[in-house]
Amino acid sequence: MAEQDTFLYALSSNNAWAGYKSHQNPEFFPKLASGQSPKILWLGCSDSRCPETTILGMQPGDVFVHRNIANIVSPTDINTSAVIEFAVVYLKVKHVVLCGHTGCGGAAAALSNQRVGGVLDTWITPLKAIRNANRQELDAIRDDKARAVRIAELNVQKGIEVLMANVTIQEAVEERGLDVHGVLFDIGTGRIRDLGFGTRKQGAGGASADEVVRGRHATLVFRGGNASMKITR
Ligand SMILES: [Zn+2]
Repeated sequence: MAEQDTFLYALSSNNAWAGYKSHQNPEFFPKLASGQSPKILWLGCSDSRCPETTILGMQPGDVFVHRNIANIVSPTDINTSAVIEFAVVYLKVKHVVLCGHTGCGGAAAALSNQRVGGVLDTWITPLKAIRNANRQELDAIRDDKARAVRIAELNVQKGIEVLMANVTIQEAVEERGLDVHGVLFDIGTGRIRDLGFGTRKQGAGGASADEVVRGRHATLVFRGGNASMKITR
């Protein structure tokens, strides 16, 4: 498909989608226009295969989002910090989810000894630092894909450390039980795996620790280190 055709297709697809949603539920857009109260702040990768609302089976209004290349969370990044501040202080989200993913180009670039070019090498500097700090473990993994998954996990772990050191997040955790989760999205299966970093360590779950987040059309259940999703009406 030519590029212009792709754009025209996207516009007509939007038109069809809006028509379908309105037909299915005439209150959907008027309700959406009246304001937002998302329960989840999602920090993820810009990768086109990781559209948070879609892969969570949720709907517009359910997830507040910040995405960048390789889901890097740096304490000095004012863009990420502003999103966190607004979501946590003003929208009062209940969960912060930091999501890495399999097959991340940023992870592969950080593992390579080649320069990417332009500003991109600067951007992935934190990932390069993770690679250097864990060189022995990473180099011992023979499979390229598995090595990229491992650095993606380490990147989420590092990002969670940065999030847990963020004063805005610390206050919300203490004052109203904000939860912070580190997860990994497997593009090859569509499943999200809880890595057990954040406010709930892996294995600390159990039935009593179930956390249910209800979106407009789906319910997300965090249970003993796993996230699962149920479609609801
Ligand atoms: Zn990525």
